[in-house]
Amino acid sequence: DIVSVILQIPDGYEGYPLELFSVPKHYEDDLEKVLIPAGLVADRTERLARDIWHDIGKGPLVALCVLKGGYKFFADLIDCIKALNSSAETGSVPIAVDFIRLKSYQDKLGMADHQQMQDDQSTGHIEVIGGDHLRSLKGRHVLVVEDIIDTGRTMEKLLELLNEHNPKSVSVASLLVKRTPLSIGYRPDYIGFEVPNEFLVGYALDYNEYFRDCNHICIINQNGLEKYSV
Ligand code: 5GP
Repeated sequence: DIVSVILQIPDGYEGYPLELFSVPKHYEDDLEKVLIPAGLVADRTERLARDIWHDIGKGPLVALCVLKGGYKFFADLIDCIKALNSSAETGSVPIAVDFIRLKSYQDKLGMADHQQMQDDQSTGHIEVIGGDHLRSLKGRHVLVVEDIIDTGRTMEKLLELLNEHNPKSVSVASLLVKRTPLSIGYRPDYIGFEVPNEFLVGYALDYNEYFRDCNHICIINQNGLEKYSV
């Protein structure tokens, strides 16, 4: 069954000052605050894994990681599912993994103007790079693992593409879902946190390839936006 309780981080939530956590020195001047500490991400991921594990039944499952932003969440989520498999007396679920990259607006543009970016990609489409051929998904249960849903357009297009290859089922786990007026209304099956409409980095989420090496999910500041703009 699909989780109906949402962990919402409210608009205006003050988060935590950087000084309270261990943030890489090279980013100290570039972040406004910690929004979600890595420990909380881990705790929430553990529960999502349990929900997913209960829902898949006998499987088998193909877990599809959307790179690069999804890699941390993917690795941690799969570790949790593996732990459940190992401790289960019966009903463990075989899992195959695969990795894709989506080429979209966000690879081509910097994040200098997030709003502008959202507008720019409204007519764009996505291209899947890497991974086994999508044909191999035919007849399989697929779990797509993504870092963040913003407008939802990227996921909508990816799902269209996946469904063309006749998987038995497709479900989506996204660590973050943004509250934005630009949402097309798409909701993933599993949501880690619903977050305010801010640009987030860390825990593999990047800004022009920077900040993936920060453990915590943080809000970037003006200095960071300027320093790492392309
Ligand atoms: P959507 O198509 O849902 O509008 O955008 C999804 C993609 O935009 C995500 O997969 C991610 O790559 C990028 N994105 C959207 N919001 C953020 C954000 O706050 N931080 C980062 N790092 N990427 C974002």
